[in-house]
Amino acid sequence: MSFYHINPKPLEDGTYEVHREGCGLLVKHPDRIDIGSHLTPDTALKSAARYYDKVVACVHCGGDT
Ligand SMILES: [Zn+2]
Repeated sequence: MSFYHINPKPLEDGTYEVHREGCGLLVKHPDRIDIGSHLTPDTALKSAARYYDKVVACVHCGGDT
């Protein structure tokens, strides 16, 4: 179980990255969205989809469980 956040700054194509707590690529931004604890990145992405249409798991941390 890990805690996940949405990076508030979208990528160039408008996709928002979902990061696991402690990821080195996660910005310390006051507007980042906490989406709670999830067993897998997959369920974290489903939660993130409630905030933004286009979300993707971070390539750095999204593959881990
Ligand atoms: Zn990440």
